[in-house]
Amino acid sequence: MPKVLSVDPSRCTGCHRCEMWCSLTKYDEINPSRSNIYVIRREPAVDVPMVCIQCGLCIDVCPRNALKRVRKTGAVVVDAELCTGCGICVKVCPYGVLRVDEETGVAAKCDLCGGSPACAAHCPHEAIRYMDASKAAAKRREIWAVALAAKNRA
Ligand code: SF4
Ligand code: SF4
Repeated sequence: MPKVLSVDPSRCTGCHRCEMWCSLTKYDEINPSRSNIYVIRREPAVDVPMVCIQCGLCIDVCPRNALKRVRKTGAVVVDAELCTGCGICVKVCPYGVLRVDEETGVAAKCDLCGGSPACAAHCPHEAIRYMDASKAAAKRREIWAVALAAKNRA
């Protein structure tokens, strides 16, 4: 069973630790502007971690075939040797979680850290978890059901 990142915004405190660990893992520096996970704040005090869902839409638009799916984890990864940093993939990502890194000049996205995602490992509140895809789908349904019920009560 493939594993995916599962996000529960109700648990997120907006500490941005996941962003810091992402940049530390990928670039050996604490720099949220180079993170491949994005914590978005919406007032009043709602923080939502945005992650790549590995949908693969970006694979199809790359004119250089620089994006590929890795069999072991199911993650879509960037081949830095092939990527020219044209940014076409950035435009199609429905979640806005792909960027061209300013320092390397090539596309950067979540690669699930090879099967051990640092963001999930270091979130102190389990707002991001790495879990079986079927469990993550059930969790998503629950989160949406709770949110819709609350909206209907308001
Ligand atoms: S580490 Fe967890 S609690 Fe902190 S911002 Fe990231 S998802 Fe939210
Ligand atoms: S970066 Fe965006 S388009 Fe590419 S796999 Fe992730 S969510 Fe899909």
